[in-house]
Amino acid sequence: MLSLKEIKTILRSADNPELLNEIQSRAEAITIQNVGPAIYLRALIEFSNICGCNCYYCGIRKSNPFPQRYLMKSKEIIHLAVSAAKQGFTSLVLQSGERKDPAFIKLTEQIIREIKKETQTKYLPKGLGITLSVGEQTQETYQRFFEAGAHRYLLRIETSSPKLFTLIHPPEQTYTSRLRALKNLKAIGYQVGTGVMIGLPSQTLEDLAADIQFFQDIDIDMIGMGPYLPHPDTPMNCWSNETRARQESIYHLSLAMIAAARLCCPKTNIASTTALQTIAPGGRIQGLRFGANVLMPQTTPSSIRANYLLYEGKPCSDENSEQSLHELEKQVLSIGRKLSLDKWGDSLRFQERKLAHQSILKN
Ligand code: SF4
Repeated sequence: MLSLKEIKTILRSADNPELLNEIQSRAEAITIQNVGPAIYLRALIEFSNICGCNCYYCGIRKSNPFPQRYLMKSKEIIHLAVSAAKQGFTSLVLQSGERKDPAFIKLTEQIIREIKKETQTKYLPKGLGITLSVGEQTQETYQRFFEAGAHRYLLRIETSSPKLFTLIHPPEQTYTSRLRALKNLKAIGYQVGTGVMIGLPSQTLEDLAADIQFFQDIDIDMIGMGPYLPHPDTPMNCWSNETRARQESIYHLSLAMIAAARLCCPKTNIASTTALQTIAPGGRIQGLRFGANVLMPQTTPSSIRANYLLYEGKPCSDENSEQSLHELEKQVLSIGRKLSLDKWGDSLRFQERKLAHQSILKN
């Protein structure tokens, strides 16, 4: 466990290239030592941009009239998932806006079951591993998705500061409810991922250090963080000029945050996100050098991807083509790492905790 003061020292290195290099070397060494050189891939399918929430920073928030709303057909989603498995992906992330209505829940459950059925015996290892990311749901719904075959769940806290959370969400979306959802997911047995935005207006270094401590405290299995990138059609657009002016320092701070997360949570899976790539070319590979071990290439068809712009400048290129995967493989090899294409790539921290739990029960 690192103290708040120690985490802040790591984050301060973002302003000093020499120190940042040092932090990078340490984080990279800890990564290799604890989770190995392998990079795990998750094919990302953004199957619907319909959302019932109004997060102030998000481009697909309910009140934004501009995106063309879509919900992909089940057949299309299953076809995409099977194609991803054929190409060598062992895991995928099914993501959509948050909907709590019975029709959506039933559909999501069916899609999970169908993907498991279609890939279970044909593709190694035991078909596709499924990570779900469809927001806050009731415990009963989470249980249904788990029983259908999803075994990992991503739900970002966005910031561990209740004050800042309130500033970037409407009153009906509460910090307490987000925390409760994370606890429910853990209790069911999911590998749980969370994350924060870096560079939010009024966010302090203290807030970010507390975010890292939050990951330690809740003993999280997966982390996905990225720079805050403004979207013009959101209430937070009023801060966009100020945010853009700080982009370079937000980028370095994001890398330092990944390094701090790796040093504090050595066996956790950490994603290097698309937002890093958006803020700086090559940012995603840099994220791997600072301690990440997961990449989530886009698999959503490019024809609809323009309607899933959570933030401005999100890349719309097709990363699921064999050529792009090959390119990704080359980039990963260039930093002395390798793509893992024979495992789901589950969180070692999760496995470790599960074993410890079983051993306590035995004794
Ligand atoms: S961040 Fe997620 S829950 Fe919030 S508005 Fe965007 S899609 Fe909906």
